Formats: sequence, C-alpha cells, structure tokens
Amino acid sequence: MSGYSSSYRAVADATLMQLVHRKGISAVCSVAGSLPVLIVLMLLGQAIPAFSQSTELRKAQPRLWNPRDHVCILAYNPNHVPLVLPEPFTPPGLNKFGLSAGGWRDQLKIQSRAGAVQPFRVVVGDNVTFVVSYADTAGEGFNDPTLGSQRQAAFEFAMGIWASVLQGPATIKVSATMSPRGGGKTFALLASGSPASYYIDFAGAPFPATWYPKSLVQVIRGSDPDTSYADIMIDFNGDVDTPQVLGNISFYYGTDGQAGNNVDFVTVAVHEMGHGLGFLSSIDSLGYYGSGIDPPYPYPFDHYVGDADGNILFTSPASWQKVINNNVFWTGPFAKYAYDFTFNTAQGVPLFAPTPYQPGSSISHLDEATFSFGTWDLMTPLNSLTTHSPDPIVLGILQQMGYSLSNSRYVAPNQSGPADGSILHPFGTLADAVGAVPNQGSVRLLEGMYAGPTLLAKPLTLHSLGGKALITSGAGPSPKAVQTHSANNER
Ligand SMILES: [Zn+2]
Repeated sequence: MSGYSSSYRAVADATLMQLVHRKGISAVCSVAGSLPVLIVLMLLGQAIPAFSQSTELRKAQPRLWNPRDHVCILAYNPNHVPLVLPEPFTPPGLNKFGLSAGGWRDQLKIQSRAGAVQPFRVVVGDNVTFVVSYADTAGEGFNDPTLGSQRQAAFEFAMGIWASVLQGPATIKVSATMSPRGGGKTFALLASGSPASYYIDFAGAPFPATWYPKSLVQVIRGSDPDTSYADIMIDFNGDVDTPQVLGNISFYYGTDGQAGNNVDFVTVAVHEMGHGLGFLSSIDSLGYYGSGIDPPYPYPFDHYVGDADGNILFTSPASWQKVINNNVFWTGPFAKYAYDFTFNTAQGVPLFAPTPYQPGSSISHLDEATFSFGTWDLMTPLNSLTTHSPDPIVLGILQQMGYSLSNSRYVAPNQSGPADGSILHPFGTLADAVGAVPNQGSVRLLEGMYAGPTLLAKPLTLHSLGGKALITSGAGPSPKAVQTHSANNER
C-alpha cells in the first residue's frame, strides 16, 4: 500500500441516506413580470469608484423580492394567478456577521443541535462551513417561540446539503429571515433569495469585468473579502404557515422529504441557496446583461449562456429574440457532459427560456419541460417535487463558474439511479468511485457488501462507513479485506 493512505472509520453517516425524493406539491418559481419596478441601487460602504482593473469593487446589494435586481422569487401558484410582489426588502442584520458579534451560529453550535445533521458538516464538508444569521426580531420568523426551532433545524439541514458537495476553504455566511409576505388561499410567494453582494476583478478571478457572488469570491481567492458581511440572503414568507395563506397548506419542516401536500421547506431553502451561490443570470428581457447596474458587467453564469449554436449571448448584440423560444442553453463542458451522458444527447443544457421572457425565472433556471422529474427538478422554475440534492448538472454549472466540488466520493453497493459520487447519489461500485475521485481525495464506503477485489490505482484515502470490500493496491497478488463495523479503528 505504499503511496496510499488508508483509514477506516465508522461514522454515523446513515442519517444522510434518509433523504428521499418524493413527489410534493407544486411550487412555482415565477414573478409578476409585467410590474413596473423601479431599479434602486443601494451602495454599501463607500461609493463604488470608477472601474479599475486592479481594484476590487463591490457591487451594490440586490434587494430581495425585486426581480429586476436578479433575485429568485419562488411562489406556490399552480393556477398561475397574477402575483403582486411585495416591496423590495433587505433582511435586517445583513451586516451582522462580524466574527465577534452575537447572533450568528458557528459550526460547533450547529453540530450540537439535538437531532441535527452533523455528519454533513463533519464528514463531507471539505473545508466548507455554512454559517447562518437569523436576523428576525425576537419572537418572529426563525425566532418564533413555537416554530422557530423547527425552522432553524430545517434551514441548517439545507445548509448541510450544500456543505456536503462543495470544497473550501470557505465560510459561507447566510442571512436568513422569515417575514409576513401575505398571499391568497391558493397562491403565495414562498421565498426570495440572492447573493448578498458581488465583487469584480479580485485576485484570481477567472474572468475579468465580471460580477462574482461573494461566496464564490471566497472559494476562488481562499479568503473572505469582508467577514462582516453576508454572502447569501434569503427571506421566506412566514404567512405560508397561517390558515389565511394557502389554507391548510403550510411549510413542512421535517427533513425526511415526507412533505405530503405541504411545501417542503428544505427544498425551497436548497433551491434559494443555489441561487445565492451564483446559479443565476444577469441577462434581462431585452438581452442586455448587468441589469443596467453601473458598471454593467455579466455574472460568471452568463459566460456560459449561449444559443443552440453555442454562441455566447452576452458577447453578441443584445436583442429580445435571443432570450425566448427555448433557445437558451448552458454551454459549459462540466454540466454539458453530465446532461449529454444522462440524457443521451449532444447539445447544451436547456435553460428556462419561455416566450415571453419571465423576469426572475428566465435563463436563471434549468428548463422546466426537460428537467421536471426525479432528481433533476431542484433548479427548475416550477420546483414541484421534493428535491433535496443538487444534481450533477447543477453541480457542473457551479464547478464551471469556479466552485470546487468535494473531494469525497461516495459508494453504496447496488445503488441505482443517477450517480455522481455525492452522498446523495453514490456510485454503485467501488471501482467507479476510485476512478472518479481526484488524487489525494477520499472514497467513503457506505454500509453493505462490495463485489471485488477492486484495484486502488491512485493515492487516496479510503473510509469505510460500515461497508465491506476487497481491495488491492495493484502490485500485490492478494487482495486485502476491508471490514469495519466498529468505531475508531483508524489505521
Ligand atoms: Zn429559483
């Protein structure tokens, strides 16, 4: 085993496998696109100076509930009732992320929560920590005396899902609030989410003149440009839990996916956090990018948004015809490979591009008609299923923009369904995981018996989480048995 590092640990990862994908109620991510909305630019800190290649600039903070600021507004609206958006909203406490300030939860506090999903953070959060500030006032929203603890636990579960698939170092700080946003008996806005701020031309930025979401800035440059400020902001509509809004339908705060007729809160939170990480476009209904914000530069997402011929939209003259007619595709190779391989095609990944353009939904989501089933539904605008896991296409898009994915690859014997080696979609064979894991990465065997022997032909760390397999390092003729059901037998 020279050159290999093998350790075997039994970790309580079994809880992670309780995530199931179950059909829920329909939740529509759409906005009332025809409303005239005033663009108001809020500058934080000092005014943005003139553009300079050598200066890190922060973009004004978008306002939640304002589609013109390129935020996602998720709605429950199966009958497509015209929705009236509330006033744009800035969560209180967005700046309250000073590491010495109160009100924020660190990793240890999340781990100590009884019944929470600490394995996400301990085992698979490869140097990524999600921190949440519940900026609601006492007794409200996430601090509600009755529902607050359930809401917090569900939200932290959603954070753990993202922590399990990303690689740091990064401490991604989320400002989460829950406010009364009203609604009707059969329709309601559910949540609004966005990156909290953007940076341009920082050291190591893959593309110049591009507004990068702050969490991605952290991952790329290895440090937080402003630890006092949030990376992601999300506001949920607390009125969904009242009988006046959606009748008997409420948010479901369980983490087992058994939402029944209710709205699965974890799904909504994971979807919005995906946007907060940067899964969104700045291209508007006229084909312009940057949304008129000065300086008007694209988002990293936009660099891979093209037409059916692969022409990148934002580098060609703007026109409204380019952003409709289902003629918008993601062209980046990581996600395209996942799509082409799984769907047996050779084209770009279809993005949501209906006619007419839908502000807040168009281009910033995967195509509804193509992906509205199974595990592919998470980042579609009609987010109608209970879907807890970012699928390989979603992860490929984030990776293309500059995120690093977790170095851990999971494997479970006889696994069926989509497999990308994530905890939620483990490979079916140890050989698949070994083939996919990067050098010095980790393969984690979930419980069960594995066919073998399997050749370990690269330097990696092997963890058994209750699994049993036969392995060989290649040169030796005799396979070694790996069996661990007891804890703490590292070697
Ligand atoms: Zn969305």
